[in-house]
Amino acid sequence: MSLKMHIPLQDLKAEFRPIKSEIMRAIEDVLDGMTLYMGPNHTAFEREFAGYIGVRHAIGVSSGTDALLLAYLALGVQPGDEIIAPSHTFIATVAPLAFLGARPIFVDIDPLTYTLDPAQLQRALTPRTRGIVPVHLYGQAAHMDAVLQFALEHGLWVLEDAAQAVGADYRGRKLGGLGNAGCFSFVFTKNLRAYGNAGLVTTNDDDLADRIRRLRDHGRSDKYTHPEHGLNARLDEIPAAILRVQMRYLERRLEQRGENARFLTGRIGGGGIETPVEAGHGKHTYHLYVIRSPQRNELAAYLGERGIQTGIHYPIPCHLQGACLDSSRAPESLPETERAAAEILTLPIYPELTCEQLQYIADSVLEWTAVTP
Ligand SMILES: *Cc1c(COP(=O)(O)O)cnc(C)c1O
Repeated sequence: MSLKMHIPLQDLKAEFRPIKSEIMRAIEDVLDGMTLYMGPNHTAFEREFAGYIGVRHAIGVSSGTDALLLAYLALGVQPGDEIIAPSHTFIATVAPLAFLGARPIFVDIDPLTYTLDPAQLQRALTPRTRGIVPVHLYGQAAHMDAVLQFALEHGLWVLEDAAQAVGADYRGRKLGGLGNAGCFSFVFTKNLRAYGNAGLVTTNDDDLADRIRRLRDHGRSDKYTHPEHGLNARLDEIPAAILRVQMRYLERRLEQRGENARFLTGRIGGGGIETPVEAGHGKHTYHLYVIRSPQRNELAAYLGERGIQTGIHYPIPCHLQGACLDSSRAPESLPETERAAAEILTLPIYPELTCEQLQYIADSVLEWTAVTP
């Protein structure tokens, strides 16, 4: 075994170094101009991102969570409404519903893709159901044909939580353009980052887009006119300028993540470790490279000793979070969700990993499987 390495789960400094001068110039240009929101970068980024996803509207907002809140508001979520969502996701998928008095109805996942299992939708349906929120978890699309078909049959809207899946697609169509709207996050942990909070809503619905544009900016129709109450949830000009620089590198970086993932899967797959499954219905962008083992905690500790930082996304499902206990509804248990929470482990997969580092990660995992009964 080679010398001990130190490999973090993310290496933002390594990403920043080669693009530093471009980023600094973009920030400087904004500060020279002193238009700090709704400026030229904001407008250009919305246009560029809409073109990239292939939707009519991209509405920049202050975070992924605000994107979800604004979309729920604009879709008309009311107190008492029920919204079907996976429990195996980041809490922000459903948190905004609580503030609107609505209830998330949690369903189980397909254990291969970790995304909402469409076979569970019928059981969750009630006369109060209004919409479905498929989450494109880890950078891979949910089973959208079945979700969209079910929504159509029952008159429900579909809001895609694409926070982890910028650039991923479903049967050739970029995620965020399949449902009534899509939500993105550009927080620093995601694949396109603004080095601060930022988010965006995509939609092909003109009315929905107008509504979200007003709601993100104090409910304004013009500077001093407020036909309705809104939020202060705009995308600022500095993050917009940073995002425009990041967009130039996005595709290349996603490709590199995919290559790293295929390398790891090729090396560590087939033994006692379950590696990520590509569903075959679209491009997986590997926001997170998640393996699983019934002895996850032991494996994480072993890799930690070898200097490899790992993560768990997520150890406690939403339906078991204190925040959800009163407002949500789920069957007695969600067996696949709970089993995944106990077994999953996220390995480093960032584009700047060297061949030696990737090799070291694979060797360390294999070494653990060799010494584990
Ligand atoms: C990150 C994330 C969010 C929230 O985005 P923020 O920008 O952190 O507010 C929502 N849903 C999922 C699935 C996420 O991963």
